[in-house]
Amino acid sequence: MIIIKTPEEIEILREGGKHLATVLYKLRDMVKPGVSTKDLDLHAEKLIREMGDVPAFLNYRPEGANKPFPASLCISVNDEVVHGIPSQKRILQEGDIVSLDLGLKHKNLFTDMALTVPVGVVSKENKKLMDITEQALAVGISAARSGGTVGDIGHAVASFVRSQNKNNNMQYGIVEVLSGHGVGRAIHEDPYIPNFGKAGTGAKLVSGMVIALEPMLNAGTKNVTIDADGYTFRTADGKNSAHFEHTILITDGEAEILTCTNTKKDPKGLVP
Ligand code: MG
Repeated sequence: MIIIKTPEEIEILREGGKHLATVLYKLRDMVKPGVSTKDLDLHAEKLIREMGDVPAFLNYRPEGANKPFPASLCISVNDEVVHGIPSQKRILQEGDIVSLDLGLKHKNLFTDMALTVPVGVVSKENKKLMDITEQALAVGISAARSGGTVGDIGHAVASFVRSQNKNNNMQYGIVEVLSGHGVGRAIHEDPYIPNFGKAGTGAKLVSGMVIALEPMLNAGTKNVTIDADGYTFRTADGKNSAHFEHTILITDGEAEILTCTNTKKDPKGLVP
């Protein structure tokens, strides 16, 4: 069931989104060679609790999982796509790219956000992968408006990636087995929002819907595998992957990005 949020809920989601973006940008600034992924996770939990909020992923048990997620922050390095589990033994190295995916509960309502950042100096190819993925998210957000459909978003994202592949002679694969989703009263709500699809199809977008868009692009095949830990998705061909996500509000005009630090100064929320 798709939930339309009340004006009061939207106000709380704006506050929560601002908290979340603030925390995630602080974590981004901590990313450097020598830092363990567990350090980032512990910091994420501390920053969220200092704001009076609750980490959304800690002990969250997705449908079908046989154990709850053991951390606040999903950290996925290089060929890991999403849902990597932080570890004291996993030390970030110069040249890595690292995806940070974080959710929080603020006054009982959830927001969700992710970004991929370079560790020190990274290759041109990695920079391009991150850049195209971030742009794919912006394209998806631009396609999300009241009166449209979920398929419009997927179509816009996939068309953009296809054109980039053509222009750059690349073969970026869009991960299809994972998708964006409604968010707010729960961390995952209806509808599913795939990063591919046909314009004009699927659930209708209505003003007051709050959704998380999250394209995941692989530098090669779209196919992914899942590790024995039951959580870590990884590219099937070992090439790197990037992931960007915002929680947005559907309006009659342009969608409003809720996970940003300053709505007025930065309406797109893409630059902190
Ligand atoms: Mg999400």
